[in-house]
Amino acid sequence: MTEKKEIILKGIAAAPGIAIGKAYVFKKELPSVELRALDESEVAGELERLDHALAKSEKELNKILVFAEQKVGEAKAKIFEAQVMVLQDAYLLGAIRKRIREEKKNVEYVVSDEIQKYANLMHAASNEYMHERAHEIEDLKNRIVRNLQQQKLLSKLDGSPIVIAHTLTPADTMILSRNNILAYGTDVGGVTSHAALISRALKIPAVVGAGSLGLTVATGDMLILDGYSGNIIVHPTEERIIEYQRKREHFSAFEAQLAVLKDFPAITLDGKSVELSANIELTEEIDYVVLQGSQGVGLYRTETLLLGRDDVPSEEEQYREYKIIADRIYPQRVIMRTFDVGGDKLIPDMAEEKNPFLGWRGIRMMLDYPEFFKTQLRAMLRASGKNNVAVMFPMISNVQEVRKAMACFNEAKNELRARGVRFDENIQVGVMIEVPAAALMSGIIAQEVKFLSIGSNDLTQYMLAVDRGNHFVSDLYHELEPSVLHTIKFVIENGHRKNVWVGVCGEMASNPLAVPVLVGLGVDELSVVPSMLPEIKKIIRSLHYAECQRLAQTVLHFSTVSEVEECLRDYVHQHCPDIPLAGNNNVI
Ligand code: PEP
Ligand code: MG
Repeated sequence: MTEKKEIILKGIAAAPGIAIGKAYVFKKELPSVELRALDESEVAGELERLDHALAKSEKELNKILVFAEQKVGEAKAKIFEAQVMVLQDAYLLGAIRKRIREEKKNVEYVVSDEIQKYANLMHAASNEYMHERAHEIEDLKNRIVRNLQQQKLLSKLDGSPIVIAHTLTPADTMILSRNNILAYGTDVGGVTSHAALISRALKIPAVVGAGSLGLTVATGDMLILDGYSGNIIVHPTEERIIEYQRKREHFSAFEAQLAVLKDFPAITLDGKSVELSANIELTEEIDYVVLQGSQGVGLYRTETLLLGRDDVPSEEEQYREYKIIADRIYPQRVIMRTFDVGGDKLIPDMAEEKNPFLGWRGIRMMLDYPEFFKTQLRAMLRASGKNNVAVMFPMISNVQEVRKAMACFNEAKNELRARGVRFDENIQVGVMIEVPAAALMSGIIAQEVKFLSIGSNDLTQYMLAVDRGNHFVSDLYHELEPSVLHTIKFVIENGHRKNVWVGVCGEMASNPLAVPVLVGLGVDELSVVPSMLPEIKKIIRSLHYAECQRLAQTVLHFSTVSEVEECLRDYVHQHCPDIPLAGNNNVI
């Protein structure tokens, strides 16, 4: 028998970890629905069948909801609450019942047709968030139809498979995770997709947006899924499997070894301290971050609070979430970033943009909705009672935006004062430097704030004009491009000249190759992916600041990214031989 050729598919790394195992291709057979005309005498029976299927669907969803609350926490589980609410929507159910009675069509057909209308409206929007919602509505529709047809949906899997699917709804991810799933891989979806968020919360490695898995992978195929680099290797060779087994073992042995560093500071061998904090998206991540001995949260992406809902969380609701994080991380600090909506993240339906990354995003949107903005600012201020909260504005591109945002912040403070509510009067405010224009003006911007945090993800995409989520140009996306490094150096120097501290909170801070240069450039804080905390600490503790300064100078003389990477690879290999390094394009 000839060996099948190894294929490497590139997707988006959505949840870290390496899985080696057999594929299970999860195909949800869509229930087929045919139109059937009813006799008058059948109408009552059809309505009864409808009630029965609705009740069953609600029961199933409530079960998933309870399971989700236990596994991923209340905030994330809200996705399922939203589905239950659609299921109970009086207007929708009224329309379905009316059509069965008046049009005398069978219940499967009417349910399907009526709910699909909503889904189609959402599909017509041009943003990923609404498409996700459309899939969820379709999922709900299929659940009801399946229950009408009394079909059973597969939820028990044999063995420990890597689940491959075109797309996974949050419900699929939850239900399947009751089995021993090694990893998830999907054709579509982004890092912010609900399935990706749930995978991360469940600590199951995941790669999303890998394109054409369905065409390439069959159930039983051997796979390697690398949730660090976003690679899925189909029919890996023996050597490849051994290579990845080693890497996986290396990762776990290394992780165990790193665990002892938890209570040690992130300090170089010659005594330069770097504040090492973590990026979080979900409240549930905070326990892990505390457990890892993080020096704080350098970036809390609050926009995840808006996931899976059409309304805006109230001040009270936001305050509760922020307070949990502030209390849990105390006495360390949490930097709360105001909603960074738009771009590849959540996009309101009203915004149909040709170039969302260059569009209505982050602070731009908040400044257009000052009341919405101030609600969030008040909630953050209220959570600052223990003096360990800082606030940060995303997507700043000019100094006027900083001033306008600060004006809103001051109004929010005054509103709280008028209500007699106490907050930290010395609360620090900073901005993200992630737009080249802001980087160039960072000296002026620094005069308005207490800190600058470099968002290397967006800074790289805007500097290089390379869409950070577009796989057609992913080989051009390099945060170690000399142009990006020069810009970072410029921002750090500008910040220090104005006596404000400068951090990096993009993924670059979690890249072992980048750490020695960032340290050498004098960065004050690195905010990293929580799972990378121990590793980055280990690197910092293996470096000499003075040597890193020389390294940074050397690297800044190179003209190509390959030269930079080669030099840094040698350096890190020499100084921290245990650290697993990503290759080009983050391929481990
Ligand atoms: C960044 O752009 O580097 C950043 C940290 O923000 P986000 O990834 O949330 O856009
Ligand atoms: Mg950003």
